[in-house]
Amino acid sequence: MADPSRRGWLGLGSNLGDRAGLIAEAVRLLRATPGIDVGELSRLYCTPPWGDADQGEFLNAALAIRSRLDPHAFLDATQAIERQLGRMRSRRWGPRAIDIDILHLEGVELADERLALPHPLWRERAFVLVPLAEIEPDLVIGGIRISDRLAEIDVTGIQAVESCPKP
Ligand code: ATP
Ligand code: CA
Ligand code: CA
Repeated sequence: MADPSRRGWLGLGSNLGDRAGLIAEAVRLLRATPGIDVGELSRLYCTPPWGDADQGEFLNAALAIRSRLDPHAFLDATQAIERQLGRMRSRRWGPRAIDIDILHLEGVELADERLALPHPLWRERAFVLVPLAEIEPDLVIGGIRISDRLAEIDVTGIQAVESCPKP
């Protein structure tokens, strides 16, 4: 029988508390979720805040998954994990313990009040593209190859975590 799951890619971010620990915990909780299989995780990257510069540095990573859930059920699962890890409702693009963005689910294109796929800003953000290109350079989203797009954007300030300034 054909595999009913589809591949997907997530962007994980944190800029509050034990950032690396929170990202690791998010991956563990995703792995424990029925209907979701976790694949490769990129290294962690420190990245300057985006959108709202008045906050601490983020750590960001990209994660490959396979999911048998429909896209909205998948979003429910990621939001439950955000809540479980203490994500408070706060301002958009503001500080957060954990942010799980669904960047792309293979074969899915939709936009409603809860979910837009592919993520509308994936191609504008170095903090998304650098980790994603590490695990999936040849992935094509909407006709654009990750590694090609990465070559076009400014990646200043994004470094693998070993070389980041100590917070
Ligand atoms: P951005 O989406 O620009 O990265 P953000 O991550 O700060 O901003 P959130 O407050 O985490 O925004 O999410 C706002 C809403 O975005 C969520 O409640 C969710 O319903 C919606 N959303 C739409 N598309 C997606 C997606 N692809 N992945 C995750 N959430 C999404
Ligand atoms: Ca986000
Ligand atoms: Ca989000």
